[in-house]
Amino acid sequence: MIAPTLAGACGRFAPSPTGPLHFGSLVAALGSCLEARSRGGRWLLRMEDVDQPRSRTGAAASILATLEACGFEWDGEVMVQSTRSARYREVFEQLLVAGEVYSCGCTRSEIDDAPNITSGIDGAPVYPGTCRNGLPPGKVARAWRLRVADTIEFVDALQGKQRQNLPRDVGDCVLLRADGLFAYQLAVVVDDADQGVDHVVRGADLIDSTPRQIYLQRLLGLPTPAYAHLPVAVDAAGNKLSKQTRAAPVDATHPVPALFAALSFLGQQPPAELRRTHGGGALAERRRASADLWAWALAHWNLEKVPHVLTQPALDYLLEP
Ligand code: GLU
Repeated sequence: MIAPTLAGACGRFAPSPTGPLHFGSLVAALGSCLEARSRGGRWLLRMEDVDQPRSRTGAAASILATLEACGFEWDGEVMVQSTRSARYREVFEQLLVAGEVYSCGCTRSEIDDAPNITSGIDGAPVYPGTCRNGLPPGKVARAWRLRVADTIEFVDALQGKQRQNLPRDVGDCVLLRADGLFAYQLAVVVDDADQGVDHVVRGADLIDSTPRQIYLQRLLGLPTPAYAHLPVAVDAAGNKLSKQTRAAPVDATHPVPALFAALSFLGQQPPAELRRTHGGGALAERRRASADLWAWALAHWNLEKVPHVLTQPALDYLLEP
């Protein structure tokens, strides 16, 4: 297997609007943007609100405003998943016609209590295949699952060679949920293909999803992007930064400390003088500080310098100067 290079020309940042932009998502935004821009490529934004019950009113607008205040510039319109269900249905029907998906009548507790249940990645139960050969008598269709078959291998530009046995480690995954919404795994594959994304730079919390996405790409005859999974920012206890941990929203009025911290987190060693915060300084002065930091980052970005680890503590970087 040949390691793909990230020689592509189109990257993206795809936040879920579940809250304001925090340090962990800033890292993913910055890494994906700098990797695309340093190659002269396009960088797109996609609002991943396909899981509508998890989306929070106002979060999408707040994320976009913070990105803009931090000096990010994306190409074209923001793609919004909640407007794309007709497209997801079209692709879903393609899979249905090909016999790759089947209806499932199992509830979560039936799956948890199944006698032959095993756990896969993250300790999540692997679907035992109860409805794989047709709905058992008395069951009604609730969700639709993808029939997975293969072991998938890929080479991540940062995390190296990856291998996952889909039936053993994940099982048949839901593509159309019981609440009628399409699952992230389907949406992300369709969207990356439709947006022409050819390199995906995102947090390593998603690395276990990548084999499922590659499997779907192959079934659908879509190209597989190159992947680089960045270290996930964790707190002292090893928990991913989130609203529940120390992840304060990025301060959109003084973005330089957070941008500097994100660059340092990504192993880029920006010079200390670029950390001028101009806390009480005039707006123009703050803009200049941010522009200087961006200029340095674009000129010096080197993916190889990013630590090749899945998680990395972020507390040092969150402390105010
Ligand atoms: N929407 C996902 C998140 O915010 C990212 C998905 C992706 O980059 O593929 O965690």
